[in-house]
Amino acid sequence: MTLAVTNATVVVANDAGDVIERANVLVNDLGVIEAVTTKSVNASEVIDAEGAIVMPGIVNSHAHLAMTLFRGLADDMNLEAFLDRLMPAEFAVLSPQAVAAGTRLAALESLRGGITSALDMYYFPESIVNVGHETGMRILTGPTILEFDGPEQLAFDARLEWSRRWLDSAERFGKWLGPHSTYLLSEEQLRRIAALASESGAGIHVHAAETRGEMNQVATRHQGRTPVQVLHDTGLLPGAVLAHGVHLNDADIALIAEHGASVTHCPASNLKLASGFARVIDLMRAGANVALGTDGPASGNDLDMWLAMRLAGYVQKNLSGDPGQLTAAQVVRMATLNGARALGIDDLVGSIEVGKMADLVVLDPRSPSLMPTFDAHVAIAASAGRGDVRDVIVDGHVVVRDRRVQTIDEATVLAEAAEYASQIKAAVIV
Ligand SMILES: [Zn+2]
Repeated sequence: MTLAVTNATVVVANDAGDVIERANVLVNDLGVIEAVTTKSVNASEVIDAEGAIVMPGIVNSHAHLAMTLFRGLADDMNLEAFLDRLMPAEFAVLSPQAVAAGTRLAALESLRGGITSALDMYYFPESIVNVGHETGMRILTGPTILEFDGPEQLAFDARLEWSRRWLDSAERFGKWLGPHSTYLLSEEQLRRIAALASESGAGIHVHAAETRGEMNQVATRHQGRTPVQVLHDTGLLPGAVLAHGVHLNDADIALIAEHGASVTHCPASNLKLASGFARVIDLMRAGANVALGTDGPASGNDLDMWLAMRLAGYVQKNLSGDPGQLTAAQVVRMATLNGARALGIDDLVGSIEVGKMADLVVLDPRSPSLMPTFDAHVAIAASAGRGDVRDVIVDGHVVVRDRRVQTIDEATVLAEAAEYASQIKAAVIV
């Protein structure tokens, strides 16, 4: 089966910011993009995208997908109070089945919203990986590591052993370790995680510099250092994905750029929890890769990367006092190519280019909010929303067709989530 998406305004999302009008994207039977051309193409299946914007699948570079189950459980409070309420609830109700149910709900929400890839940090990673296979969503994850036993009931040493076994057998997208943060792990523990990651070639996904409270906790626990300094000193920084990166000093920014780490900016979560404003423009100027994420839907409270794009741009324009800062094309790249770079999969996805896998989002050309479109980047970054997503293709497979997710039984997933929600309600709300 070959596939062609025809007559589209193709937003390539490469560094040059190319947009190709009236283009046809040809996908071969392995799901690889074979041509992006204004010449006519032949394929066994054709999706007519006449008048539509076609963009790369969106990359959510920091999520806790299964936290869909806890959406709206702890609101109108800061991160510390939020975690105090959330963590006991998680430990009380989480199981491999619950994580699968929450992740399925998240996959449904994500795919309908044009998200084709996500870097996830949560418990029972096997359930998460399985849901990725089941639904066709590209989910990258691995064991979450913290000093507590966690819902898996594994103390640190046993957790590290389990992580080693996980990495030995993991496929590419499972080659990740998620040390939760520098405030929930000791220096020695962080060093042992770094050693395991370098032995096994695992990526590092870690929270860093999210709130003022965290900065104080880390300074107290780690001899006055910042989270980024601690990550650097323990060997975890090179190539790592740092979620949030809100409270960074100039030296932190220089270290991040020097060590090829990425920052995942999560503006909706940061704004809701009053965590602060990330220095996105300064990071980019220093040469650091800045991606975009939603964070977990208990802190976000959704998996809306369109909201993340819009907030990212608007906040930086206001912080800098310059509406010319963080352009629409830059914002679109943060949600696509920069995300793929952070996740180490930019050889596969992140832009619409020959040789990459076909992860494509087709926006509805009949959407009133996209009429007229003078600049496709601006339409994506400032006008479009999840309701404008018509079709979604992952690896050349049509996963969402005319707003219906083909790989998920929606009613079953919603009923399953509702069942867990009532358990959570019974366990937590007194
Ligand atoms: Zn997070």
